[in-house]
Amino acid sequence: MNIDQEYIDFAKDAYNQCCNWFGTPEDEDWPYSIELFPRDGCCRMKLLHEYFIAVRSSYKCTEQIKSTISHEMYHRVTMSRNTLRKNVWFDEVLAKLTQFHFMDISGYSEYADYSLRRNLESCTTIHPARLKRIRRSRFNFWFAREGYPRNFGVSVRRLAVSALEELSWETMCVAASSNSWDDWIENIEPSERAKVKQIFGVYFD
Ligand SMILES: [Zn+2]
Repeated sequence: MNIDQEYIDFAKDAYNQCCNWFGTPEDEDWPYSIELFPRDGCCRMKLLHEYFIAVRSSYKCTEQIKSTISHEMYHRVTMSRNTLRKNVWFDEVLAKLTQFHFMDISGYSEYADYSLRRNLESCTTIHPARLKRIRRSRFNFWFAREGYPRNFGVSVRRLAVSALEELSWETMCVAASSNSWDDWIENIEPSERAKVKQIFGVYFD
């Protein structure tokens, strides 16, 4: 099902902003389409040379739809890279932060904050060793299997909140184009290094 023009325009702005933050993707000539679907997601369709961005069709409010587009646009722009995003949990931390920042600058600060911090107190976090082993499955996206273990989303959002409170957004943007942990540490401001190690060190050791 097609999506309103308002969201197509919003997506275009999100795409441009993601390119500013993370650099233009190598496959920039691959178009994306946005459609209503039973769940959210972004799929890189290698045979067709295009991306499919899915927005949950049950969403009722503008904020939910725009928030999803902001999130999935991070995936559109970074998915072809062989960077730290190979770590699924870390990829989702960056996606959550992109979602937060793009909603924030688009005039939806309150919703951005709510969607990042909701329910964080009431849920437990997945142990780092387990979080690191989680893999993504394209099959799950198309066939509606339960993709991630319980509390994956909360664990990711907790890390995103720590990064938001302790680190600059620029530091996190560098992570999106870093090929390794060492590469990331080397390319950020020296004053950020200790904090990065404190928040993420246990996950990248
Ligand atoms: Zn995501």
